[in-house]
Amino acid sequence: MKRFGFFIANQWVEPSGREYFTSYNPATGEPIAEFPAAAQPDVEAACAAARSAFHCTWAEMDPEGRAGLMLSAAAIMRKRERELAEVEAMDTGKPIAETAGFDIPFSILAFEYFANIAREVQGHVIPVKREGGKEIFDFVTYEPYGVVAVISPFNFPLHLLTRSLCPAIAAGNTAVCKASEKTPVTTALLGEILLEAGFPPGVVNILSGYGKVTGEALASHKEVDVISFTGSEMVGRRLMELSARSPVIKKTLLELGGKGPAIVEPDCNMEETVNSLILGLCYNQGEVCCATTRLYLHEDIYAPFLTRLIEAMDGLRMGDILDPQTQMGSLISQEQLDRVDGYVKAAVNDGARVLCGGERYTVPPCDKGNWYRPTLLEDVKSSSACYREEVFGPVMVVEKYRRLQDAIDKANDTNFGLGANLFTENYRTAYRTGRQLNVGSVWVNMPNGSQMACPFGGNRNSGLGREYGVIGLQEYLKVKNNMWNMTSGSYSYY
Ligand code: NAD
Repeated sequence: MKRFGFFIANQWVEPSGREYFTSYNPATGEPIAEFPAAAQPDVEAACAAARSAFHCTWAEMDPEGRAGLMLSAAAIMRKRERELAEVEAMDTGKPIAETAGFDIPFSILAFEYFANIAREVQGHVIPVKREGGKEIFDFVTYEPYGVVAVISPFNFPLHLLTRSLCPAIAAGNTAVCKASEKTPVTTALLGEILLEAGFPPGVVNILSGYGKVTGEALASHKEVDVISFTGSEMVGRRLMELSARSPVIKKTLLELGGKGPAIVEPDCNMEETVNSLILGLCYNQGEVCCATTRLYLHEDIYAPFLTRLIEAMDGLRMGDILDPQTQMGSLISQEQLDRVDGYVKAAVNDGARVLCGGERYTVPPCDKGNWYRPTLLEDVKSSSACYREEVFGPVMVVEKYRRLQDAIDKANDTNFGLGANLFTENYRTAYRTGRQLNVGSVWVNMPNGSQMACPFGGNRNSGLGREYGVIGLQEYLKVKNNMWNMTSGSYSYY
């Protein structure tokens, strides 16, 4: 079994302590690789390397130089695309169709896209009024912050890492990355890729380890200027606390959880809507922040729509994750499987009806992993945990509505605000409804999803800030206003 080290200043280094952990394939239980768990001295070394690279090379390099290196990394990733897709499937338990079709191509695209748009970062001039006969020239410039700590979750390991890392380094920052301890493999392989691409030492440093130790040491470190975190609301709140307590408050970007609603109007195209809901709920086994988990269905189409939806949910193919035909994989761990099942059982004990699923899937080879059948629940109390909390599994609750406004109010009745889906053929309804939804993304007549050029992020407990696109790049640039007196002679306000 391969044993990785930390990637610090372009060297593979041994941990200061002796602790290692193993990453397993959740679909089979087989071990994949061993990783060191970083402690405070390792975090110190990585942050020092990142600070030094920021001052000595990276921030001073012009955007063309940075873009060239990022494009070289993308080219190497393309050569290793199949290998990365297989490793990502095995580390996460998701089907190869998803890692080969989305995770890895999107990670490569992040390098290409942000390399290219970073060339376009420009300042601007603000016309200002003359003060006491003086001519003022005012201009705004954008500068990198310094060191960014990128802390990423288990559900799309390389994709969500690169979604934050690429804009950060394209903007001239350096980085220390920490993947989830559940899925560290492709993040470690990125070290090999950046080394081969010729990145200067220290621009990207990669640690492995546990959240409580490595993550907290990183988020509290004095050299870290920005925390870019994707993960749970609970940890997001903790990172805000750590930032507030550190000597220098850090810019904290948070991409947190969700409880995605879908409103289905009676004039929807039923086949397309069912297809979108299946993807919205079951993609990545429901381990998706913006998964569609609350369905508000108009009473006029309630019964026929549900018949079709249940048929489609029951028909999803689960099995060998390396088979390109497999549509749904294994949940990340036994613990997550128990958690998902616990939400369903509690809802049922509280009066909910299981319309499909509601149990573990154990047909071989799925008996070895943590598969859960796509689940639809009716009559779930709106006060229950299953209705209000993020389940992070393929579990959807359905509710009937008569007035559209009631469905909108229910959709907004949550502390989350990541994304919402709407299905109607009436563009006026779509426009008016979309405006009322308190979310970062609205998808009309399509499943939830993201595009590299379009901002993504949440309102309320779903997060702070946005990733992707020009707006995502700007999150990693600080604004400086420059005000120059262009007239000789002393300046006075009196
Ligand atoms: P998590 O919060 O448990 O862990 C995320 C990362 O934070 C991991 O690397 C972990 O080691 C680290 N971490 C844990 N405790 C920490 C601490 N005290 N200090 C510093 N770091 C710590 O999340 P997860 O289970 O890996 O991922 C699932 C969550 O991520 C869900 O809530 C999901 O909605 C969210 N998510 C959000 C988005 C988004 O774009 N909004 C995308 C994907 C996942």
